[in-house]
Amino acid sequence: MKMTPVEELFTVINETATLIQEESKCSYLEALAETGENLFQETVLQELSELTEKRLRKTYQEVQLSNFTKEDIRKSFQLAILKGMKDSTQPNHQMTPDTIGMLIGYLLKKFIKSPTYRLLDPAVGTGNLLTAAINQDPDKAIDGIGIEIDDLLIKLAYVNANLQEHPIQFFNQDSLEPLFIEPVDAVISDLPVGYYPNDIRAADYELKVDEGHTYAHHLFIEQSIRHVKPGGYLFFIIPNGLFESEQAKKLQEYLSKTVNIQGIIQLPLSMFKNKETGKSVFILQKKAEKLNAPKQVLLVNMPSLSNVTEVEKILVKIDRWINENK
Ligand code: SAM
Repeated sequence: MKMTPVEELFTVINETATLIQEESKCSYLEALAETGENLFQETVLQELSELTEKRLRKTYQEVQLSNFTKEDIRKSFQLAILKGMKDSTQPNHQMTPDTIGMLIGYLLKKFIKSPTYRLLDPAVGTGNLLTAAINQDPDKAIDGIGIEIDDLLIKLAYVNANLQEHPIQFFNQDSLEPLFIEPVDAVISDLPVGYYPNDIRAADYELKVDEGHTYAHHLFIEQSIRHVKPGGYLFFIIPNGLFESEQAKKLQEYLSKTVNIQGIIQLPLSMFKNKETGKSVFILQKKAEKLNAPKQVLLVNMPSLSNVTEVEKILVKIDRWINENK
């Protein structure tokens, strides 16, 4: 049976990553970043035995990247990352699934009318969410900025973006440290959830709690609001219990001062391990002069994404809300 383009490219990526992994004695994910870099540079950059180098070159020759769409490239790289993350990755490092990337891409396309804009993901991880979202709107010129604390994940993100030929600037740093970037038009982020251990840094934020550690996801929201232009949009993947924690009051007060809440889209619970880990998309717009809050906040429950008719109904509801409010 003939392979799909994604299967064909995945096979090359997987075989070459495995060859590099075996000889370099590194992890599969490290080898994946290396093979991605080789594919992009059209050479073998590592010092390997002659035989392995020959086998790598032969396998790379089986594919011509220009014959694949950006989505084919992203999906094949995503499959390989999933394979590498299977046993080792902690929940807060997990790649954002395709379906969420599609939904965020859909929302960006509907909310942002400008033909060119700057988009920040301050927890960019492997770049899967950022590039999946950008790929949803190929007619716009979107300049991406990705920030990530983990060295390996950012390497995967950078290789991923290069292979898809996206102009994304990457910064390998703690996103809650000062950011040296120009203000952006929009932010998307699948927030890392949990306590932020650096209380000294947290003290720079209005959301810092008086006792103990502050939630990192709260600080990420404040940092993102600081770096988006007035009138800019923010789309966060948040835990469903965001407003139920003991730190929620402070967050609510801060949000009511700085943004107009646009909506909350609850993602289908079937996407998560259990009810406690369920998530939603939280949509905000930074306050600006002459900008009014929406008449009504958009509140929807996304049905299971396999239920095409129900999903379509919800998308119509979202479209109608945008037409009436934007
Ligand atoms: N959207 C990403 C993707 O598609 O791969 C996954 C995001 S993952 C849920 C959250 C990411 O935040 C992780 O990659 C983690 O390493 C990163 N992170 C956690 N704390 C951070 C910090 N203080 N600064 C920058 N990145 C951080």
